[in-house]
Amino acid sequence: MERYAMFIDGEFVPAHDASVFPVYDPSTEEIIAEVPAAGSADVDRAVRAARSAFDSGAWPGTTAQERGRLLFRLADSIRQHAASLAQLEARNSGKPVVEAEFDIADTATCFEYYGGLATKILGQVNPVPDDALSLSLSEPIGVVAQIIPWNYPLLMAAWKLAPALAAGCTCVLKPAEQTPLTILELARSFNEIGFPPGAINIVTGLGADAGAPLVAHPEVDKISFTGSNATGKGILKVAADSIRRVTLELGGKSPNIFFADADFEAAVDGALFGVFINQGEVCSAGSRILVQRPIYSKFVEAMTAKAATIRLGPPLSRDTKMGPLVSRRQFERVRAYQELGKQEGKLVLGGGRASGFDRGFYIEPTIFADVSNSARIAQEEIFGPVAAVIPFDDEEDAVHIANDTPFGLAAAVWSRDIYRVFRVLKKIRAGVIWVNHMQPTYVEAPWGGYKQSGIGRELGPRGIEQYLETKQVHINLNEKPL
Ligand code: NAD
Repeated sequence: MERYAMFIDGEFVPAHDASVFPVYDPSTEEIIAEVPAAGSADVDRAVRAARSAFDSGAWPGTTAQERGRLLFRLADSIRQHAASLAQLEARNSGKPVVEAEFDIADTATCFEYYGGLATKILGQVNPVPDDALSLSLSEPIGVVAQIIPWNYPLLMAAWKLAPALAAGCTCVLKPAEQTPLTILELARSFNEIGFPPGAINIVTGLGADAGAPLVAHPEVDKISFTGSNATGKGILKVAADSIRRVTLELGGKSPNIFFADADFEAAVDGALFGVFINQGEVCSAGSRILVQRPIYSKFVEAMTAKAATIRLGPPLSRDTKMGPLVSRRQFERVRAYQELGKQEGKLVLGGGRASGFDRGFYIEPTIFADVSNSARIAQEEIFGPVAAVIPFDDEEDAVHIANDTPFGLAAAVWSRDIYRVFRVLKKIRAGVIWVNHMQPTYVEAPWGGYKQSGIGRELGPRGIEQYLETKQVHINLNEKPL
């Protein structure tokens, strides 16, 4: 079993009271590591380190070129250690190692993208009358608190750290308590790469003990959170007290909409990929599968037959297509939804714990057909491999059902009719729309939700704006102003 320290002010340190918490391999239920359980005192230390690295100019005072170079070096380090990081990610989170390899490559790409963008943060000259010069300057917000979930552990860390560091902010990042290992491994390279102490701090701990004091810390200028809606709402309330800037990336219940004229084979694959990738532990999972009536029965049949062949197995096996869920808590939560679904819909596949495993949080890929969109399994985020298939009549019906949710993170539309595709995508209230595909995510393109799926956008140039303040500068050009 590995013992990890957390990373504060350029040093690996234990919690101030030496307390630790266990980290599990969800495929064996064994403890694989012990990690410091930070409390308020540790959070305070990390925030002060970030504050000092910001206020002294140690990080924001570096040139944009230098910040870019360091981010490129970090990406190089990730690529060098990609194989071991992917293995650790798979072991700790339960995701198949083949998927973890994609995540780690995306992580490196994210640091490269924002390394490049560091030198492209521009101001603006505003068109005021000739007797003045008006400028808009972009400045880093300051100290940022970044809290992430367990489904894409290192990638989510990159989505937060890369734009913030490129902008010149200093960071205190708290990984999810289930999956803190890959970011702690990566932290081993921070000093050697040349990040000044305090620019990046990694604080490990539970939500209530480490996340809550981080959010409430008065020296934090901005909070960027990815996680559940319940936690996000709490964070927004705490931030309201001192009008702290907040970006939220929350849950979803994304519709994957199949019109009868879609390419049938591609559509069936897209439905399965959309909901079962990463064991369904995906905020943008296409967990509501809307199918037009003329193809409905054939579609459900084909989907069910194909989903039954998904190979479950240990995360480190290259043949595995679906691993265990991340934790016992998540397993129990998804099991409860499987049982609920048996009352609310017609079970056509799965519905229980996966057989053939004497331990581990393995769950069967599960499909419920004939689900009403008002059912709880169609309205609540399950965050596991559970699909609700819902029939629809026409375009108007599809749009109505798709939008009938408090969420608005993503949606997909499958059809060969380009007129219909454009009409539908304009009417759907979601931050990401895929056409004849589901899930591809690019660092170059904005990510985030409408409605209760969040506030703000990550990735792309907009992702860096979340870490910038705008300063208006008015320069008088009259020697004797009125
Ligand atoms: P969660 O809200 O329980 O935990 C997320 C993080 O918040 C963890 O680091 C946790 O320790 C921390 N936390 C918990 N309580 C806290 C508190 N009171 N104050 C501060 N921090 C606290 O969420 P989860 O169950 O771990 O993650 C799954 C959720 O994340 C899903 O709802 C999913 O949709 C969402 N998610 C969204 C996106 C997106 O981009 N929109 C991406 C991934 C996951």
